[in-house]
Amino acid sequence: MARYIFITGGVVSSLGKGLMAASLAALLQARGYKVRIRKFDPYLNVDPGTMSPYQHGEVYVTDDGAETDLDLGHYERFTGVSARQSDNITSGRVYRDIIAKERRGDYLGATVQVIPHVTDAIKEFALADQSDHDFILCEIGGTVGDIESLPFMEAIRQLRNELEPMQTLSVHVTLVPYIAAAGELKTKPTQHSVRELASLGIKPDVLLCRAEHPIPDSERRKIANFCNVRHEAVIPALDAPSIYSVPLQYHREGLDAEVLRGFGITDAPEPELSGWADVTDRYFNPEGEVTIGVVGKYVGLPDAYKSLNEALVHGGLANRVKVNIKWIDAEIFEEKDESEIVSALEPMHGILVPGGFGERGSEGKISSVRFARQRNVPFFGICLGMQMACVEGAREAGFNDASSTEFGKTHEPVVGIISEWMSEEGIQQRVEGGDLGGTMRLGAYEAKLTTDSNTSQMYGGADTISERHRHRYEVNAAYIEPLERQGLVFAGMSPDGLLPEIVERPDHPWFVGVQFHPELKSRPFDPHPLFAGFIAAALEQSRLV
Ligand code: GLN
Repeated sequence: MARYIFITGGVVSSLGKGLMAASLAALLQARGYKVRIRKFDPYLNVDPGTMSPYQHGEVYVTDDGAETDLDLGHYERFTGVSARQSDNITSGRVYRDIIAKERRGDYLGATVQVIPHVTDAIKEFALADQSDHDFILCEIGGTVGDIESLPFMEAIRQLRNELEPMQTLSVHVTLVPYIAAAGELKTKPTQHSVRELASLGIKPDVLLCRAEHPIPDSERRKIANFCNVRHEAVIPALDAPSIYSVPLQYHREGLDAEVLRGFGITDAPEPELSGWADVTDRYFNPEGEVTIGVVGKYVGLPDAYKSLNEALVHGGLANRVKVNIKWIDAEIFEEKDESEIVSALEPMHGILVPGGFGERGSEGKISSVRFARQRNVPFFGICLGMQMACVEGAREAGFNDASSTEFGKTHEPVVGIISEWMSEEGIQQRVEGGDLGGTMRLGAYEAKLTTDSNTSQMYGGADTISERHRHRYEVNAAYIEPLERQGLVFAGMSPDGLLPEIVERPDHPWFVGVQFHPELKSRPFDPHPLFAGFIAAALEQSRLV
C-alpha cells in the first residue's frame, strides 16, 4: 500500500518546495523505500512546453516525452528515479481533458463542476500509474491561498478522508523571516499560513520552516503550540551552502524520522547516506577548478538552464574540480568586433552552446563555435548548439549562406525542419506552419554510435545509447558528405540512419555536438559521461593556458 505525502507551501513562493520534496524522497529511499514524486501545477497551460524559460525556468523532458516542470529534474537528480508523463499535471491539462469529455457527451447531460469533476480528475492523477511504491510524494505548486490551487487543496482534503487513517501525511513548507531592526525571527506568517491551510480542511503534520537564522527552541515551541503540531514536527530548514547538502541537513534536523513517525513507522532501517556524503565531500573539497563559458540566449535567469548547470557541476564532481560557469549572452557577440569575442572567450577552458529556439543570438553562437574550433578549446554543442556547429562547419566548407530554416528561408538549409521520424507509435509527420505546442520530437530515442568514435569511447564503447530529445529541426543529411570532408565526423545517427545525432571533430582536443539533451540524465551520483569528458578536457585545457 503506497503512502502519500502532500507537500504544500505557504507565506511566499520560491521556498524550495521542489528541493525539499526531492530531499525527503532521497532520505526515504536511503532507508530502502521505493519512492515516486509528483508535481501538481495549478496554472492553466496544458504543459510548460510553450512557456518562456524566462517565465518558468527550463522545460524538463522525460523519457516518455512529457514536457514538464523543472522540479521533476530535481526529483530525478536526487532519487535517480526517471519521471514520467504521469508525474506532472497542470490545471490546464485537467480542464482540457474534462472539456473534451464534456464535448463527447461522456457526462451524460450532467452539469460539469469543479467539485466533483475537477477534484476527481486530480485525485485520479494522484492515485494513477503506480506499482509497488512505498511512498508517493505530491508537491502542489504555488502558495496556499492562491485561487488557482484551491481545487488541488480540496482534492487533497478529500483524499485524506478517503484513504486509510495513517496513509497520508501533510508537510507544509513555510518561512520564518528575520526582522533585522527588531533582531527577531517572526513566527506570525507561519501561523497565518497554517490557519489558511486549516481553513481548507488540511491540518499539517510536519512544518518545514525555512529560515536564514537558527530557530531557537522557544520559537519552535511557539510554532508548535499555535499551529497545532508536535514540537519535534517543527523542522528548522536553514539556508544550505549547496543544494547537495540539503538531504543530509534535513536528516540531521529529523525530517525523515518525523515523517515516518507520522505514518506510525518506528522500526525503519537507518538511512544509507554514504553516497550523499561522497557527493558533498567532492563538492566542498575540489582539487582544482575550470571555467566554462556557456554562450546562450536565456542567460539572465539561471533556472532557464537548470539541468545544464547541474550536469556541469556533476562533470566537476566526476573530476573532483569546481566548475565556474560564465553565462555569456550570445547576442552581445553580434554587436562586438572579433577582438571582443576573443577577449570574452579566451579565459574559458571550455565553451558550451546549449539548446535554444529562434534566431536571436544565433550568429553569436556560430562565432563561439568558430573560436572554439580554431583555438582548439574544448567545445560542447547541445541540440541547437550542435546544429550551430554544423552550420559553422558548412560555412567553413564554403557554403557561405549556410543556416537553419528555423531562422527564415535560406539557400543552404544545413538545418531544416524534421518532416518525418519513427517513434514507438509509428511514423511521425510534421508540416511547416503546424501547431507549436506538442509537435516536437520529444523524449527518449536511441542512437547508433560508430564504435571507434571518441563519443562511443566516452560511453564506455557503447554502440547504442538512449537519450532525451526536444527538437523540431535536424541537420540535413544532404550536407553530411561535405561536412565530413571539412572534418566533422557523424559519430551517431538515429537507428534508421536518417537523423544525425552526434558530430565530433577527431582533429580537435574535444569537440562534440549532440542533437539530444544529455544534461537531463546526469545525476550527482552518476555524472553523464559526456559532461565528465567535457570537464576532463577543460581541465587539460586549464593546464595549457
Ligand atoms: N530550435 C532547435 C530545434 O527545434 C533546437 C531545439 C533545442 O535546442 N532544444 O530543433
